[in-house]
Amino acid sequence: MATATKPQTRPPDQQEAPEPEDLNPFHIAQSQFDLAARYIPELTPGLGEFLKRPERLLTVEFPIELSDGTVLTFVGYRCLHSTVRGPGKGGIRYHPDVTADEVRALASWMTWKCAVVDIPFGGAKGGVAFDPKKLSVSDVRKVTRRFIAALGENIGPHTDIPAPDVNTDAGTMARIYDTYAMMHPGVNCLPVVTGKPVDLGGSLGRREATARGCLFVTQQALRRGIVPRRSSVQGATVAIQGFGNAGAIAAQLFHEAGARIIAVSDSRGGIHRADGLDPAAVSAHKKRTGSVTGFPDAQDLSGEEVLTVECDILVPAALENVIRRDNVAQVRARLIVEAANGPTTPAADRMLFERGVQVLPDILANAGGVTVSYYEWVQNIENEQWEESAVNEKLLKKMNRAADAVIDTQRTVNADLATLQASRDAKAPGGVPLTPVDLRTAAYILAVRRVANPTLARGIWP
Ligand code: GLU
Repeated sequence: MATATKPQTRPPDQQEAPEPEDLNPFHIAQSQFDLAARYIPELTPGLGEFLKRPERLLTVEFPIELSDGTVLTFVGYRCLHSTVRGPGKGGIRYHPDVTADEVRALASWMTWKCAVVDIPFGGAKGGVAFDPKKLSVSDVRKVTRRFIAALGENIGPHTDIPAPDVNTDAGTMARIYDTYAMMHPGVNCLPVVTGKPVDLGGSLGRREATARGCLFVTQQALRRGIVPRRSSVQGATVAIQGFGNAGAIAAQLFHEAGARIIAVSDSRGGIHRADGLDPAAVSAHKKRTGSVTGFPDAQDLSGEEVLTVECDILVPAALENVIRRDNVAQVRARLIVEAANGPTTPAADRMLFERGVQVLPDILANAGGVTVSYYEWVQNIENEQWEESAVNEKLLKKMNRAADAVIDTQRTVNADLATLQASRDAKAPGGVPLTPVDLRTAAYILAVRRVANPTLARGIWP
């Protein structure tokens, strides 16, 4: 006789762990694209495949010799994602976690970012996998020169134009320019790289542009009413994760615009002060001690805790995948402004959207940097230097227009869901039903259309 079997319930410590979240940045970038593509009926499947894949990925391996005679070998990448709208554009980062897939993802985000702000560039990105903080300044310079020499003719003023990114700055860009200029005497090489020092063809306002763009986009989105009962940054509480070029300057600019910076962090940890921190004093402390931690009159927190501080606006300004499925429930901000590239995973995006937390996505929020890079490139080609006020005014118009375009796209798509669904069903019945889109998907829809249209207009050669 068969015995009744009881349903098997395992004790909590033996229950199967959920599938780990896929944190590969290129998989994430592709899934973001695929989600948006469902709302773009004019995108044929083959065209989508072409647009989401990079045109080229170069891997270079090269040595440098340290002052003690040791030879170190480095692996570097440069990915050109799209040249449909113009030459490739995007930064070079130095970080031990750089991988081919990270660079591919970052390059594709550059394509969509340049399209969101409507500048005539495609997307590119590069990186060398090492920790520059562990080498001397002169050894890092050797890495820069050998990397640029190894890339050879694969970068150029009208093909692929680097810029600063994580752990690289105007000084690095000066070395990139010099290396390239040594290899190309007798021509104007200034437009080969942007983010250069101001006295070497750099644009006024470029250093602050990523952070200033974040502020402009935030102000415009709040004016447009994306956060109930908050129409400006005046009096808003702000937490900033990452205190490098983007984060530290964002702290200063949000503070000057009347926000209260209550928490900041860097790679060593964070600090919190409910009454507000003075960003200039925190920067001076970091310069002196190497970190924001230990700042007088503030409470020390872990870097992770800064993400979960209760605040109006959270600005992740460091690396990818910091807001994930496993910590998103603890995030207590009302608005997330992505100064970093790729800080929020798709699972976290979904959960935030369900909770009504708005996310101004990286391809909009941090596009101020590449926008002023474009202005620098134009100035270099024209042998001009624009006033800082002119640069900032142009940036303000660009960012406001981009924020409006993304918000309008979201509203139009969400208002037209039934029509979109009907046109999908007519082509391929029985698919997953379309649901309202968040601002990231709206930004993708806008950007992918802006790349798909010129692709179709140009035609696929031959
Ligand atoms: N690395 C920056 C970004 O991710 C700037 C790129 C540029 O100026 O080309 O947007």
